[in-house]
Amino acid sequence: MTIENGKVVGLAYTLKNHNGIELDRADLSQPFYYLHGAGQMIPGLETEITGLAQGAKKSVTVAPADGYGEYEEALKMKVPRSNFPADAELAEGLQFAAQLSNGQQTVFTVTAIHNDAVEVDGNHPLAGQTLYFDIEVLEIRDATAEETAHGHAHGPGGHHHH
Ligand code: ZN
Repeated sequence: MTIENGKVVGLAYTLKNHNGIELDRADLSQPFYYLHGAGQMIPGLETEITGLAQGAKKSVTVAPADGYGEYEEALKMKVPRSNFPADAELAEGLQFAAQLSNGQQTVFTVTAIHNDAVEVDGNHPLAGQTLYFDIEVLEIRDATAEETAHGHAHGPGGHHHH
Protein backbone atom coordinates (compact mmCIF):
# COMPACT_ATOMS: atom_id res chain seq x y z
CA MET A 1 0.00 0.00 0.00
CA THR A 2 1.27 3.47 -0.84
CA ILE A 3 0.21 6.96 0.16
CA GLU A 4 -2.72 8.19 -1.91
CA ASN A 5 -5.95 10.07 -1.40
CA GLY A 6 -8.28 8.40 1.08
CA LYS A 7 -5.51 6.72 3.12
CA VAL A 8 -4.82 7.46 6.76
CA VAL A 9 -1.07 7.97 7.18
CA GLY A 10 1.01 7.89 10.35
CA LEU A 11 4.24 9.89 10.11
CA ALA A 12 7.23 10.55 12.29
CA TYR A 13 8.89 13.82 11.32
CA THR A 14 11.14 16.66 12.31
CA LEU A 15 10.60 20.17 10.97
CA LYS A 16 13.49 22.63 10.87
CA ASN A 17 13.88 26.16 9.55
CA HIS A 18 16.71 27.35 7.29
CA ASN A 19 18.94 27.91 10.33
CA GLY A 20 18.56 24.26 11.32
CA ILE A 21 16.48 25.14 14.36
CA GLU A 22 13.93 22.47 15.14
CA LEU A 23 10.39 23.88 15.07
CA ASP A 24 8.28 20.77 15.50
CA ARG A 25 8.49 17.00 15.62
CA ALA A 26 6.41 13.86 15.90
CA ASP A 27 8.23 10.90 17.41
CA LEU A 28 7.93 7.19 16.71
CA SER A 29 6.10 6.88 20.03
CA GLN A 30 3.55 9.52 19.07
CA PRO A 31 3.18 9.66 15.29
CA PHE A 32 1.19 12.33 13.46
CA TYR A 33 -1.89 10.82 11.80
CA TYR A 34 -3.78 12.56 9.01
CA LEU A 35 -6.13 11.78 6.14
CA HIS A 36 -4.26 12.15 2.82
CA GLY A 37 -5.90 14.43 0.25
CA ALA A 38 -8.27 16.06 2.75
CA GLY A 39 -6.46 19.38 3.04
CA GLN A 40 -5.14 18.53 6.50
CA MET A 41 -1.52 18.95 5.53
CA ILE A 42 0.40 21.74 3.79
CA PRO A 43 0.32 21.15 0.01
CA GLY A 44 4.10 21.10 -0.52
CA LEU A 45 4.56 18.19 1.87
CA GLU A 46 1.45 16.28 0.82
CA THR A 47 2.53 16.32 -2.84
CA GLU A 48 6.07 15.14 -2.08
CA ILE A 49 5.06 12.12 0.00
CA THR A 50 2.32 10.90 -2.32
CA GLY A 51 3.23 7.41 -3.54
CA LEU A 52 5.62 6.55 -0.71
CA ALA A 53 5.35 3.13 0.94
CA GLN A 54 5.43 2.17 4.61
CA GLY A 55 8.97 2.44 5.97
CA ALA A 56 10.01 5.08 3.45
CA LYS A 57 12.10 8.01 4.62
CA LYS A 58 12.37 11.29 2.77
CA SER A 59 13.71 14.80 3.19
CA VAL A 60 11.37 17.43 1.79
CA THR A 61 11.97 21.16 1.37
CA VAL A 62 8.81 23.26 1.19
CA ALA A 63 8.81 26.83 -0.15
CA PRO A 64 6.60 29.36 1.67
CA ALA A 65 4.01 29.42 -1.13
CA ASP A 66 3.52 25.64 -0.73
CA GLY A 67 3.66 25.85 3.07
CA TYR A 68 2.06 28.49 5.26
CA GLY A 69 2.12 31.24 2.65
CA GLU A 70 4.26 34.31 2.04
CA TYR A 71 4.55 36.83 4.85
CA GLU A 72 2.07 39.65 4.23
CA GLU A 73 2.90 43.01 5.79
CA ALA A 74 -0.74 44.05 5.31
CA LEU A 75 -1.77 41.47 7.91
CA LYS A 76 0.26 43.29 10.56
CA MET A 77 -2.12 45.86 11.99
CA LYS A 78 -2.55 48.29 14.83
CA VAL A 79 -6.17 48.41 15.90
CA PRO A 80 -7.94 50.55 18.52
CA ARG A 81 -8.28 48.93 21.94
CA SER A 82 -11.98 49.80 21.69
CA ASN A 83 -12.34 47.22 18.89
CA PHE A 84 -12.06 44.55 21.56
CA PRO A 85 -14.68 43.77 24.20
CA ALA A 86 -14.04 45.86 27.32
CA ASP A 87 -13.67 42.72 29.45
CA ALA A 88 -11.33 40.94 27.00
CA GLU A 89 -8.16 39.90 28.82
CA LEU A 90 -5.60 40.85 26.20
CA ALA A 91 -2.12 39.40 26.41
CA GLU A 92 0.79 39.05 24.03
CA GLY A 93 0.50 35.73 22.22
CA LEU A 94 -3.27 35.59 22.54
CA GLN A 95 -4.86 34.28 19.35
CA PHE A 96 -8.30 35.05 18.02
CA ALA A 97 -10.19 34.59 14.77
CA ALA A 98 -11.44 37.57 12.81
CA GLN A 99 -12.81 38.18 9.37
CA LEU A 100 -10.84 40.22 6.85
CA SER A 101 -12.59 42.80 4.67
CA ASN A 102 -12.58 40.21 1.86
CA GLY A 103 -14.54 37.82 4.10
CA GLN A 104 -11.64 35.45 4.72
CA GLN A 105 -11.47 34.02 8.25
CA THR A 106 -7.98 34.54 9.67
CA VAL A 107 -6.29 33.78 12.97
CA PHE A 108 -4.57 36.82 14.49
CA THR A 109 -1.95 36.85 17.23
CA VAL A 110 -1.61 39.77 19.63
CA THR A 111 2.00 41.00 19.36
CA ALA A 112 1.94 44.16 21.51
CA ILE A 113 -0.50 46.01 23.76
CA HIS A 114 -0.61 49.77 24.26
CA ASN A 115 -2.96 51.91 26.30
CA ASP A 116 -5.32 52.64 23.45
CA ALA A 117 -4.13 50.32 20.67
CA VAL A 118 -3.35 46.68 20.12
CA GLU A 119 -0.85 45.35 17.58
CA VAL A 120 -1.89 42.13 15.89
CA ASP A 121 -0.40 39.88 13.21
CA GLY A 122 -2.59 37.74 10.96
CA ASN A 123 0.29 35.83 9.43
CA HIS A 124 0.78 32.18 10.35
CA PRO A 125 3.85 31.91 12.63
CA LEU A 126 5.57 29.94 9.84
CA ALA A 127 4.52 32.26 6.99
CA GLY A 128 7.40 33.30 4.75
CA GLN A 129 9.62 30.47 5.95
CA THR A 130 11.14 27.69 3.90
CA LEU A 131 10.46 24.47 5.79
CA TYR A 132 12.78 21.46 5.98
CA PHE A 133 11.08 18.17 6.83
CA ASP A 134 12.61 14.78 7.48
CA ILE A 135 9.78 12.28 7.42
CA GLU A 136 9.37 8.55 7.96
CA VAL A 137 6.21 6.71 6.92
CA LEU A 138 5.18 4.52 9.84
CA GLU A 139 1.73 3.38 8.84
CA ILE A 140 -0.65 3.51 5.89
CA ARG A 141 -4.20 2.20 6.10
CA ASP A 142 -7.56 2.72 4.44
CA ALA A 143 -9.67 5.42 6.05
CA THR A 144 -12.81 4.22 7.79
CA ALA A 145 -16.17 5.39 6.44
CA GLU A 146 -16.46 7.70 9.43
CA GLU A 147 -13.03 9.26 8.82
CA THR A 148 -13.85 9.78 5.16
CA ALA A 149 -17.15 11.43 6.10
CA HIS A 150 -15.46 13.71 8.64
CA GLY A 151 -12.52 14.56 6.40
CA HIS A 152 -9.89 13.76 9.05
CA ALA A 153 -8.14 10.86 10.75
CA HIS A 154 -9.31 9.40 14.07
CA GLY A 155 -7.34 7.35 16.56
CA PRO A 156 -3.84 7.59 18.01
CA GLY A 157 -2.35 10.99 17.43
CA GLY A 158 -5.24 11.97 15.21
CA HIS A 159 -8.41 13.88 15.84
CA HIS A 160 -10.43 13.08 18.95
CA HIS A 161 -14.09 13.74 19.53
CA HIS A 162 -15.23 14.82 22.96
ZN1 ZN B 1 -14.16 13.04 13.24
